[in-house]
Amino acid sequence: MPPSHTPVHSENRPLSCDLLIIGAGVVGLWIARLAMQAGLTVILLEKHRIGAGASGGLLGALMPHIPEQWDNEKQFQFEALDSLSDEVRSIEQETGLSCGYLRCGRLLPLARDQHMEMKNARHALAQDKWQSARTGYEWNFLESAQLEDWPSARSMPYGMFMETLAARINPRLYLAALAASLVHNVSVIEGDGFQQFEEGSGAVHTQKGRRIVSGHTVFAAGHESFQLLGNMLDRPSDALGKAVKGQAALLQAGTAADLPLVFQDGTYVVPHEDGQVAVGSTSENEFANGFDTDNKLEKLIDRASALCPQLQGATVLERWAGLRPKSKRRDPMIGFVPGHQGVLVATAGFKITFAIAHRMAGCILNLVSDGRSTDLPQAFHLEAHLTEVKA
Ligand SMILES: Cc1cc2nc3c(=O)[nH]c(=O)nc-3n(C[C@H](O)[C@H](O)[C@H](O)COP(=O)(O)OP(=O)(O)OC[C@H]3O[C@@H](n4cnc5c(N)ncnc54)[C@H](O)[C@@H]3O)c2cc1C
Repeated sequence: MPPSHTPVHSENRPLSCDLLIIGAGVVGLWIARLAMQAGLTVILLEKHRIGAGASGGLLGALMPHIPEQWDNEKQFQFEALDSLSDEVRSIEQETGLSCGYLRCGRLLPLARDQHMEMKNARHALAQDKWQSARTGYEWNFLESAQLEDWPSARSMPYGMFMETLAARINPRLYLAALAASLVHNVSVIEGDGFQQFEEGSGAVHTQKGRRIVSGHTVFAAGHESFQLLGNMLDRPSDALGKAVKGQAALLQAGTAADLPLVFQDGTYVVPHEDGQVAVGSTSENEFANGFDTDNKLEKLIDRASALCPQLQGATVLERWAGLRPKSKRRDPMIGFVPGHQGVLVATAGFKITFAIAHRMAGCILNLVSDGRSTDLPQAFHLEAHLTEVKA
């Protein structure tokens, strides 16, 4: 886990701020950073500790959508992936801390044959939608592997795709650097959570009895946002979204740090620095305990090792499980909460949150300052999610 962040807010001072953020995962931290840069005073309230939720995991894959069926949501993610390298560089320069970021690209071995027209069409679409001439990002088809056993020849009887937009980041280093960048006008309170709104004034009461008055409040509480939102809107939380359990592992494999990601049939192999490789992830809708690991993870490690034989015999450094926030419609959920003045939500990035958290935060800051965000795709608006719930 990233180290605890200081300063912790003094209980003697009056607790008031322009923006109160509930939850210090990657989304809450990004909102805090952008709010700080906009000159707002911020309280970041985290009931456990920074990175205690899904953001404190191991994988850190930053993977683009395929360029087919392009829409505003894919454009949003593309721009987010494209801009993240500069954002990370700024954070690293400010803090002197590495985020373990690398635009390493991705290999997608093909276990089934694909029509040549489809391969060519995808290449052409990526040229267009990813603006290859300007950006250099490409989606290509390769008949055979270029790196020995990365992936194995057996895993790619029909060749593989290679794309150069994907990147990786070390989730815990990233969170620690983001937290360290919060140097002005941000008070971080760990070990205390949102309890309820005070009737009439809208002030927030915390689980440990603090009272916080804020201009705006944003819920960035990961999967727990659904329950909090359901309570506010008097709707069942599972009509809004739910937690999907994921298990992942970190291996000491002695591999090179600049290897590309490998992805096949839901198995991610994500090389990091110091010879470490993260493998993931299960996707479990039913589970008794969201935080334990079991045989599903062992099978996943076996699949990853068959895919990338360099992993065979690697020491498992850590096994980890967490709960991702997935909205009913799968899209991120961002916007004002109806009937609650000055209250917003930002959650449900599901499997792409690390790629888009900074852009989700940008939309929240637009909403806070202007009441609207032209950057926000219609499908991500909380309103769009609620309309579907009604229907
Ligand atoms: C195994 C696994 C692998 C994954 N791999 C990837 C990947 O490779 N790439 C990717 O982009 N995404 C990945 N994800 C998804 C990603 O981790 C999540 O979508 C993301 O971390 C969600 O961030 P968040 O800030 O919305 O929520 P969280 O990180 O869950 O943060 C929410 C925070 O809110 C706090 N909180 C909750 N309730 C309260 C309250 N009442 N008061 C105060 N605080 C509260 C929690 O303690 C928590 O710290 C993966 C997830 C899992 C489980």
